[in-house]
Amino acid sequence: MNPVTDHLPETAPAAPVTDRFLEEVDEFSAHNYKPLPVVLERGEGVWVWDVEGRRYLDMLAAYSAVNQGHRHPRILEAARAQMERITLTSRAFHNDRMGPFLRKLCDLTGFEKALPMNTGAEAVETAIKMVRKWGYEVKGVPDDQAEIIVCCNNFHGRTTTIVGFSSEEQYRRHFGPFAPGFRMVEYGNARHLEEAITPNTVGFLVEPIQGEGGMIVPPDGFLARARELCTEHRVAFMADEIQTGLGRTGRLFACDWEDVRPDVLIVGKALGGGVYPVSAALADAEFMDVFHPGDHGSTFGGNPLGAAVGEAALDVLVEERLVERSAELGAWFREELRKLDSPHVEEVRGKGLMIGVEIRLSSGPARPFCEALKTRGILAKETHEQVIRFTPPLVIERETLEYALEQVAEVLAG
Ligand SMILES: *Cc1c(COP(=O)(O)O)cnc(C)c1O
Repeated sequence: MNPVTDHLPETAPAAPVTDRFLEEVDEFSAHNYKPLPVVLERGEGVWVWDVEGRRYLDMLAAYSAVNQGHRHPRILEAARAQMERITLTSRAFHNDRMGPFLRKLCDLTGFEKALPMNTGAEAVETAIKMVRKWGYEVKGVPDDQAEIIVCCNNFHGRTTTIVGFSSEEQYRRHFGPFAPGFRMVEYGNARHLEEAITPNTVGFLVEPIQGEGGMIVPPDGFLARARELCTEHRVAFMADEIQTGLGRTGRLFACDWEDVRPDVLIVGKALGGGVYPVSAALADAEFMDVFHPGDHGSTFGGNPLGAAVGEAALDVLVEERLVERSAELGAWFREELRKLDSPHVEEVRGKGLMIGVEIRLSSGPARPFCEALKTRGILAKETHEQVIRFTPPLVIERETLEYALEQVAEVLAG
């Protein structure tokens, strides 16, 4: 008996229950996503179950928001215990969970202060506001002249300010007019960055690996060189580690690969342990102290339930050594994927358990490969047409990855 393959879904199943759910969301929801046609009703660790009772291996992990695995017992326990006490105070009052959470987050990351938010996009907006105000009040940039440099092919969220500096036509089209003050440079090109810096540049916003952009790893040395340029020109280095952070790439933060310490660190996704939205912008007092009462806020930001969940999410990350696990298993899995030598694969890239498999143009888009994986019990999602991303929960076991590899091998075989 094989506990893994015994639960494999049949290849051409009738799915009456699934169809009902698909029709319902089609009717009652906006059509702003194109999910794989699977309706999940339960999750545990690396596994999820659909409404037909089929089990799948979750190789997406909610875009890295489930690094600790689904329903981690310790995180659930922290949430339950907090729900028995108090869940929301707003920032009009203090609560007894926010301080301990932020202390732990600061201790772990080495920043002096953290400003808690909920979603990633909010934390990015927080970082933008912080760095602009720092630019005017500390660096001395003339009013309303601040510029922030961003990278081509970026993804930082979906608010109107953020999509306004996207290079993705579809993210922007008919959502304007957009906020000014952003300038775009080629990702991974330090010379381009240097040329774009002006006396009014206050920040450089960058993902150390572009996840949504297609799992793009910049050339070695780029982050370190960008850090030098930012220091030299007094520009705030803003690292968006919402997806790459908290162990995903095999280091606590992807910037650690080049020993880069950002001025502003943006975290989200896995900070909520797959349970609750928790994000934050981190910085030292020089930046954070530009905020005064009334400057910025969020009703749910720093709420006691989120703080309890965030604290447990960090504990699990550290105590279960998920960062080390990601490094080891990721290196192994990437190597094995490369060895497959599939005629469909253009490139296998990534760091730690943040892995992209680029499908050759001549083999068509990645989506049908993801659909084939689904029928074999593996949930993965394409990004940017040609790339299959593999970002399983970091709690995954080696044997489970071996099983995934077998399925991937068959799907990618000639
Ligand atoms: C997911 C993501 C965001 C946005 O986070 P939301 O919680 O969806 O708002 C921002 N930046 C990066 C790099 C991300 O991966």
